[in-house]
Amino acid sequence: MKISERVERVPPSGIRRFFELTEEMDDVISLGVGEPDFTAPWSAREAAIDSLEQGRTSYTANRGMMELREAIAERSRERYDLDYDPDGEVLVTAGASEAIDVAFRAFVDPGDRVAVAQPSYVSYVPGVTFAGGEPVPVPTREADDFELTVDALREHGAADAEALVFCYPNNPTGATMSERDLEPIAAFAREHDLTVLADEIYADLTYEGDHASIATLPGMRERTVVFNGFSKAYAMTGLRLGYALAPPEAITAMNRVHQYSMLSAPTTAQHAAIDALDNCEAQVREMRSQYDRRRRFVLSRFDEMGIDCFTAKGAFYVFPESPWEDAEAFAEALLDAEGVAVVPGDVFGAGGEGHLRVSYATGMNELREAMDRIERFLD
Ligand code: PMP
Repeated sequence: MKISERVERVPPSGIRRFFELTEEMDDVISLGVGEPDFTAPWSAREAAIDSLEQGRTSYTANRGMMELREAIAERSRERYDLDYDPDGEVLVTAGASEAIDVAFRAFVDPGDRVAVAQPSYVSYVPGVTFAGGEPVPVPTREADDFELTVDALREHGAADAEALVFCYPNNPTGATMSERDLEPIAAFAREHDLTVLADEIYADLTYEGDHASIATLPGMRERTVVFNGFSKAYAMTGLRLGYALAPPEAITAMNRVHQYSMLSAPTTAQHAAIDALDNCEAQVREMRSQYDRRRRFVLSRFDEMGIDCFTAKGAFYVFPESPWEDAEAFAEALLDAEGVAVVPGDVFGAGGEGHLRVSYATGMNELREAMDRIERFLD
């Protein structure tokens, strides 16, 4: 069969490659995955079970169940004082991944440039490429606490892009950006008429300061699409549920793609998500405090080992400098010698070179054992 040139151009995921290496090994501790080790809160699972018992096995509205869209809009109002109309400004999707994918397909014409702040989640560049666009990597640097800067946007040609995609709290660095730090980025987007695609999937996993949404800044709501979902904060990765918030013309365009490709997000998961928003704040707080404990533990262990590690403030990753110049060789040797899986930073694009992504979405005992093994390997 003929495979499209666009697909041929995109290499397989570098994270997957490390998973495959670990599959053939015994006694591996994986700090490589971007997935909570917790199970979804019981009441959300029960809501899903109840919906099945009641026979709710049909499609929902393309944009998602109205009750869920209302709950999502309510959350945005409570957290950010941002009003989105549940009828026209909310789209429920199969994971934030689908929301991101339909946004690229809805907004990008062949040849359009899309600036991608990096290091970043690995789906943005392929998503832009699949949509026929030209990804424009914009690196962030440890010296700037991995925050996106206007200098980097200018230097790497974001001024003539159509859109800018970024993610804070960030995967893989754990960096966050305050409202003050986002202001110049917002000014740049307004000046150059950029659509901003803000991936806020880790917003509820912010450990220092409050999460700031760029959509709250003056003149930004009308040019921003916010992505969020239930995978991370609610430990619901397998339920595949996310959403986008944006002005009506953007949601209408995204829904055009969604209604022909996905029809509607999983119905059972939508029932779970309504419960998650209504009843699971305490569980989210509890998971967040456990992640925070692990974050501080991992940071202090790297510090004791003399490994430089940026103080991650959100998500569930730290991004230490690789003890060897060649981070990929280090990750492979560590896996081989001690059975600890971490991901080399260059997988996440520009600015990730020479670093390792270490996920702490792993139980404390395993984390302790993994850090002991890393120390032994270094010795
Ligand atoms: N955005 C980021 C930054 C992520 O890390 C992930 C998951 N690894 C996603 C989006 C996708 O999440 P979902 O499960 O909601 O599709």
